[in-house]
Parts: sequence; structure tokens; C-alpha cells
Amino acid sequence: MVSGTWEQRWHPLREEWVVIAAHRQDRPWQGEQAAAGPAPAAVYVEDCYLCPRNLRVSGIRNPDYQSVFVFDNDHPCVGMNAPQQLEPPPGIYRNAPALGVARIVTYTPLHNVTLAELPVDSISALLATWRDQYVELGSRPEIRHVLMFENKGEVVGVSNPHPHGQIYATTFVFKTIEVEADVSRRFYREHGRVLFQDIVRSELADGRRILFENGSAIVFLPYFARYAYECYVAPRETHASLQTMSSGELGDLAEALKRLLVRYDNLWQMPFPYVMTLHQAPTDGGDYAGFHFHIECHPPLRKPRLLKYLAGPEIGGGNFLSDTRPELKAAELLAVPEVHYKGRHD
Ligand SMILES: [Zn+2]
Ligand SMILES: [Zn+2]
Repeated sequence: MVSGTWEQRWHPLREEWVVIAAHRQDRPWQGEQAAAGPAPAAVYVEDCYLCPRNLRVSGIRNPDYQSVFVFDNDHPCVGMNAPQQLEPPPGIYRNAPALGVARIVTYTPLHNVTLAELPVDSISALLATWRDQYVELGSRPEIRHVLMFENKGEVVGVSNPHPHGQIYATTFVFKTIEVEADVSRRFYREHGRVLFQDIVRSELADGRRILFENGSAIVFLPYFARYAYECYVAPRETHASLQTMSSGELGDLAEALKRLLVRYDNLWQMPFPYVMTLHQAPTDGGDYAGFHFHIECHPPLRKPRLLKYLAGPEIGGGNFLSDTRPELKAAELLAVPEVHYKGRHD
């Protein structure tokens, strides 16, 4: 019995089918590595708007920061100064001011490293900053949700390699989180259990897609992955957000995240592109007892120069078709060294 080559798998957090159609090209990636990218950048770049001491387009100068640095985005998508006087829409249409807070989080003053290369302590500091931002922004009455994410790599539209992420604090809850929260709440009420815990139990029972475990954190490539190298990083205990996690748990989560990101970078010996998103409970005062905070990484590449194109099934139909078998992709990630290929940091 060959499993997982050609079948549909149920995505329990999204309640949708993922079609695995790996029967035509189901083989591990080997051989060719990514084309050498542009020459490695310097540790400090004069015209980088994220480097310490540099002047930004707003006329504000960055401080000589030493670790994590957070500032309001100079080109915000949502802002408290968004236009309040809007043209009333016709018929059933609705609109509202695009209120919110958009911030940039630089991970380190070093311009030419990736998050994977930072020491675990620095990643812990980043998690603590994200936690503080979640608490601060989430406590504002008009903010219903705080979305934190990192877009990494030119294929996801980021030309500045300086390691950084973004925060969108909005007056609405982003759709993916809303769906997960609704599904998790219903599951908790019906079964008295946390859905994400059942997912982790199922992953542990199988074992093939577990990439890392320590005292309180786990990394896995889920059974129902929509992208070839999609992975989840999560605390073992259920927390609705970073807010209630102990410093020990933050440290374990930082180590788990680093282990994954090093494997990503090592896979093709290049800064591995991804969209990384923190899935934390909304801050609108709702019931999120069954919500289990986790980090999702969605790498857009299937091979070094081959994007997963979103087309008919995904854009047109709304369900994913995956050309790869999750067990095989997990095995590829497990096969690479745990020491970053640049070997400059711990
Ligand atoms: Zn920079
Ligand atoms: Zn999620």
C-alpha cells in the first residue's frame, strides 16, 4: 500500500480538502542547488532603511539599536490617520476607514543574516518583543486582532534582505485566524478537547513528519500540508497567544523555530524564502479557550527555482492541490545538517 502519493487529505483547521497528486513526480529533490544569488551583502548598508543610525523616508533616524527594534511603518496599509470621510457605497456594499497600526520589527542590527543564523537568545528576545506588541496593541479597544508575519525572499516580494517582520493590528480579524478560531471553538465545545492537541497527538503517533521536539515545543510538517515544505512550530501546552507563555517556553519555542529555519536555509544552501505567520487568538474579547497558538511557515518554492503556482484549484476553486508528498518533504528536511551552512553563528 503506497500512502500519500495520490489521495485527498482533510485539513482539520481549515475544514477543507487538500489534494495530494504526487504520483507523477514523487521523488526526493537531489542534485542541483539554487543559483548563486547576488553577492552577499555587507553587515551594514548605507541606504538600507532598517539598518541602525540610517535616515528613513519619514525623516526619522533609526537609533543605534543593538537587538530587536520596532517602529511604525512609514508606508502603513492600515493607520489611525486613514481617511474617515468615505464615499457611501451603493446597495449591499459596505466600507469603513482602514484603521489600525502597522509596524516593522527588525530582528537584529546585522543586515546580512537570516533569522536562522541568529542565536537562540536573540530569537527568544524577538518572541518576547512579539509578545509585548501583542499585549500592547491587543489591549486597544478598537483592535480586534494582531497579525505578525515575516515575508522572506524576493519571490514573496521582499527586496531588502535585512531580517525583519511586520505587524498589522486591525479592526477586523484576518480570515485564516477567524476560520481556525471558529473551528477550534466548535471542536472544543463538542469534544472538550483542543483540536490542535489532537493534531499534535496524530503527528506524534505517526512520527514521520516530526522535525524537532524539546521540553515544551514541537516542529512538524503536517499531514495536510498545502505547500511542499509547510511547517508548524508550536508550544506543547495550549496557549491562545504568546502572552501566557513562560520564559522557559519562549526559549524552547525559539530553539524549535531556529532548528526549522536552519533546515530551511540548508536545504538548498540559500536563504530559504517563506511567509511565516503567528497564529494567535484575536484580541476582541471572544471565547478562545480551544485556540492553540502556533507559528505557520509557508515556503512558496517546490524546488530551488520552481514556485508553487496558485492557479485553477487554489485561486479559482479555493482548495490546494499539492504535487508533493508530505512524508517525503519531511524526510528531505530531516536529512540536511542541523548546523547552518554559513557556519558563522551558533
Ligand atoms: Zn539593513
Ligand atoms: Zn494556523
